[in-house]
Amino acid sequence: MVKHTVTLIPGDGIGPEVVAAARRVLEATGVEFQWEVANAGASALEKEGSLLPESLLESIRKNKVALKGPTTTPVGKGFRSVNVALRRALDLYACLRPCRSYPGIISRYENINIIVVRENTEDLYAGIEFAMGSPEAEKLLSFISQNQGIEVRKDSGISIKLISETGSRKIARFAFEYARANGRKKVTAVHKANIMKFSDGLFLKVARDVASAYPDIEFEDRLVDNLCAQLVQQSHPFDILVLPNLYGDIVSDLCAGLVGGLGVAPGANIGDEIAVFEPTHGSAPKYTGLNKVNPMATILSGVMMLRYINEGVAADRLEAAVAEVVAEGKSVTYDLKPGRSSATAVGTSEMADAIIMKLSEGASRQN
Ligand code: NAD
Repeated sequence: MVKHTVTLIPGDGIGPEVVAAARRVLEATGVEFQWEVANAGASALEKEGSLLPESLLESIRKNKVALKGPTTTPVGKGFRSVNVALRRALDLYACLRPCRSYPGIISRYENINIIVVRENTEDLYAGIEFAMGSPEAEKLLSFISQNQGIEVRKDSGISIKLISETGSRKIARFAFEYARANGRKKVTAVHKANIMKFSDGLFLKVARDVASAYPDIEFEDRLVDNLCAQLVQQSHPFDILVLPNLYGDIVSDLCAGLVGGLGVAPGANIGDEIAVFEPTHGSAPKYTGLNKVNPMATILSGVMMLRYINEGVAADRLEAAVAEVVAEGKSVTYDLKPGRSSATAVGTSEMADAIIMKLSEGASRQN
């Protein structure tokens, strides 16, 4: 049996609890793991003096695969997001977020099965910003006035939106390759090219170009505002959505909302050789240490990781075990109970126990 060495990042807030639950459940599949535990975020800052220690990056570069809990970025102390920095440092250019309905989860919608593919490194997240009133902002505004003839308000702050042909090509190819490898039928490129002709327009042009190399996969495009309305109204069948960074961030939370909320939405950040799997939700500091929140998003991120490391059978068994526990609705956390009531809910680790029990029942049914 192959033993997989994986970097395990507990993270901050509720991170250590949901990651511990996911680790136990993953081990219960029978797949052998060697975990290399490394810190990131506020806990790493406290222990190692850096939000993103070099030792953590080295561990992920070596192992190529990581399972990560959410991290806290201290607010107002000049820190940029840990996640943005991690994705950039390892060139994890694709953020993959499957949004799927599981029977038993309370939601306004059912039968949703949408894959969100978000570009992870460019767009307004490039971090190129100029503060209102700074000499750099003034210089830029006078350049704009001279070159474009547009007088911008002098008290403007500026964030630059950068979309490259290279970045757009990589993410569009990723979406189409994912479609092929996973039996998906259609890719929808999402943009606002009618307004931002040189950034979103470029993204759309490249997506169309890439689509022509995949005649077996249907291609269409949507304006992001129209897409949001159609998603909420469920008036159009979407399959895979490919989006620039900012729209991808917003639309993936919208899609998580369609299938029952952040507690159930898994994710992965993927590059050419490295992948970091993590839930969509954050570190929810107010629930720290309460053994209360839902481990499902992290466990399903683990399912995605199992598929990535070619442990597809274990991934299917684990996903089925999660689905059974959720469908029964007995051993689930408060967020999956009617009215979000804690009265009959179980804790994070008890929900993991119930999933482990289902795994062993499934295994004995097969024997
Ligand atoms: P959050 O996702 O941490 O929490 C928002 C709310 O969502 C919670 O109050 C809770 O009601 C619900 N929720 C989240 N996870 C849940 C779970 N597993 N089970 C049940 N309910 C759950 O978002 P926030 O409060 O905006 O951010 C808190 C911190 O997390 C910030 O420091 C932010 O930077 C960080 N963050 C980290 C990541 C990441 O590491 N990938 C992602 C988003 C936010």
